[in-house]
Amino acid sequence: MILNLISRAYLAISLAAIGLAMIATSCGENGASTDGDFAGSETVRVVVSMYPLEYFTGQIGGDRVQVDEVVPSGGDAHDFEPTPGDLRKIAGADVIVYNGLGFESWIDALLDSGDAPDIAVQASSSSVARHFDANGVATDSDDDTDPHMWLDPVLAVTQARAITEGLVKADPDGRVVYLANSDSLVDRLTGLDGLFMEGLGSCSRDTFITSHDSFNYMAARYGVNAVGINGINPESEPSPRALADLSNAISDSGIGYVLVSPIDSDRLSDTVARETDVESLPLHTLQNLTSNQKESGETYFSLMEQNLASLVTALECEQ
Ligand SMILES: [Zn+2]
Repeated sequence: MILNLISRAYLAISLAAIGLAMIATSCGENGASTDGDFAGSETVRVVVSMYPLEYFTGQIGGDRVQVDEVVPSGGDAHDFEPTPGDLRKIAGADVIVYNGLGFESWIDALLDSGDAPDIAVQASSSSVARHFDANGVATDSDDDTDPHMWLDPVLAVTQARAITEGLVKADPDGRVVYLANSDSLVDRLTGLDGLFMEGLGSCSRDTFITSHDSFNYMAARYGVNAVGINGINPESEPSPRALADLSNAISDSGIGYVLVSPIDSDRLSDTVARETDVESLPLHTLQNLTSNQKESGETYFSLMEQNLASLVTALECEQ
């Protein structure tokens, strides 16, 4: 703490003093975790495993936190494996925020290794997790619980609360700031829930087809069904027979759209779209953003509103 104060004073005096401050810090008991990142000694360093948690943590933490997502832009957060460099970054952080429920294949090994930050926040609570069968019907079964809670704005609120608790634990001095920021994020999520309820309130169709089976919580929330062309994990692909059955079902039902996540491989959705003569519309899983989306300033909220617009079209809802 005293070293921190000294460091701050040095910083205020001159740039040259930064070198001295780093030497001072590296002699402290946290010396092993300093990597020359001077800002790191002033802010709460949080590593996150996926985009919505990065966004929520940034909104709640504000200037008091520095948030790093370990999955590169456009990467697939499902089958990501941390590099040794990622593991060093994670070990040097104060807090790790991850989704849980099997979303991150690497997290259990990390938490068992003892190299994880002391404060580890599982954002998706196991107690509200559900399993969905192939028809999108929810059960409370423990097997293969669906990890995609962030796409339901109401469950996103529970994630925001979990993150807030973790930040308060890491930085009790920031409690008032974190709680205020959290409340305003929760207000926005509640507003988004209202938009979905209104937008999907009166629709001609109750089923939509997606490229990636991520939308079960969201669909269940608003009383519709999501049928995924790929399984829960985009790596698992359906058999040609299942694909043919799906194509037939689409033709028979007169469904006009396939909803495609821009981050996924579009091959299967393209095949279905071609064979059944349907159009594709974007439906973002948000588990990671593309560099394009990041550069154009898209956020959780802007992409969720695009999702709603695609759903309103696909489900032929009254506008
Ligand atoms: Zn997913």
